[in-house]
Amino acid sequence: MTYKTALKHDIFETISQSADELQLDCYVIGGFVRDYLLERGDAKDIDVVAIGSGIDLAQQVSKNLPTNPKVQVFKTYGTAMLRYNDIEVEFVGARKESYNEDSRNPVVENGTLQDDQNRRDFTINALALSLNTSNFGELLDPFNGIEDLDRGIIRTPLDPNITYSDDPLRMMRAIRFATQLNFKIEENSLRAITANKDRIKIITKERIVTELNKILGSDKPSIGFKLLEKTGLLDYILPELTALKGIDEVEGQRHKDNFYHTLEVVDNICETTDNLWLRWAALLHDIGKAPTKKFHKKIGWTFHAHEFVGSKMVYKLFKRLKMPLNDKMKFVQKMVFMSSRPIVLASEVTDSAVRRLVFDAGEHVDDLMTLCEADITTKNPKKFKKYHNNFKLVRDKIVEVEERDRVRNFQPPVSGEEIMKAFNLKPSKEIGIIKEAIKEAILEGEIPNEHEAAFELMLKKGKNLGLTIEN
Ligand code: ATP
Repeated sequence: MTYKTALKHDIFETISQSADELQLDCYVIGGFVRDYLLERGDAKDIDVVAIGSGIDLAQQVSKNLPTNPKVQVFKTYGTAMLRYNDIEVEFVGARKESYNEDSRNPVVENGTLQDDQNRRDFTINALALSLNTSNFGELLDPFNGIEDLDRGIIRTPLDPNITYSDDPLRMMRAIRFATQLNFKIEENSLRAITANKDRIKIITKERIVTELNKILGSDKPSIGFKLLEKTGLLDYILPELTALKGIDEVEGQRHKDNFYHTLEVVDNICETTDNLWLRWAALLHDIGKAPTKKFHKKIGWTFHAHEFVGSKMVYKLFKRLKMPLNDKMKFVQKMVFMSSRPIVLASEVTDSAVRRLVFDAGEHVDDLMTLCEADITTKNPKKFKKYHNNFKLVRDKIVEVEERDRVRNFQPPVSGEEIMKAFNLKPSKEIGIIKEAIKEAILEGEIPNEHEAAFELMLKKGKNLGLTIEN
């Protein structure tokens, strides 16, 4: 079979010509070929494998391109990279690999195309198209990856036990591809992942998180998290989630399985947002429920303060996984901490409660509403509709209150300095008391968010505190 149509970009013609000039064989391999055949759009990353020096080939290609792009050489890995317009091409010499027990970095020697295909993780990632003029576009597919693509199967080229044990990152990659492509992991592979799960310990946290982010970036992340759970990997990576598994029953009272509930919430939120951090918030919104779970004879199961406990756990989890401890983490914490707030509102929507919600959530109030809507997983269609309608009312009210009271990024209408001047005060606790009283009155709707009304209240409060007005 030939696939010349996959190679329409003019870069391929230049690579072809350059390879012929150096008299070496070369192929485009991996993700580019896979994504072309899956019609996943034009890939911008091209991996080229040369039977010989990838670095020499990259340099020859650069010479032959009209832009003569800079070639970045990575000597230790024997690879080279160049950019041409909007694409990035990576060149590597075909290699044969052997592995040690305690590292995912193999001992490497030069090899044939077949050696190179053997070291690939999955049959669907080992597909290669020839780039030389004599057989331009010819497909080389020793493991029948085409059929696996067709049938939607993730399979390793060699014995899966060896493939996954050699480089345990492949376990995460298998699950990530299964999620992104909605493919099945072949049974032997799944068994091998389960058997090798503790090998995940040799993989750096950063690489694990890269894969987790790709799973969370997919249309239906629950596919991946269910596989992580089924294979036992989730216990190593996110034990906070496996702790949510299961349903307890005492005296006939049950609570829902918060693990599967969480996965539903994540899938729901993926339908409405691409924001990775909001997706993380959905994944972690209930993690405080495991350590706070209690049974009370009178009221049944409770998860008292799980939002607070959960938001503290977010920090520890991000730190352990070497994720950023910046404003993204704070955003996730805030979403987890506030995740139940609008639910109280859903039954009775009052102006002051909405004002407080907007005040506390600030610029993230819309994200918070999105999270709460995703959190509705009831299977009762009547309730489902009712809860959504109520949140729609809350959203409308947010807009209304916001237009009138502007509390989203609240700035006190009377400043501390103004208070000091009015009562001839030095910095003191009275200023804080007056400011708090003004803020409370605005949030309660007792006064509008305006200077004049706030100033008047200030005078009144000051008088009550025994302060005298400076003339
Ligand atoms: P994506 O761009 O979605 O991550 P990709 O398949 O292009 O997909 P890369 O990480 O760029 O992923 O890898 C390029 C190719 O290198 C893969 O298609 C595969 O053939 C090979 N490869 C990458 N990582 C591994 C690995 N850990 N073990 C074996 N082969 C791998």
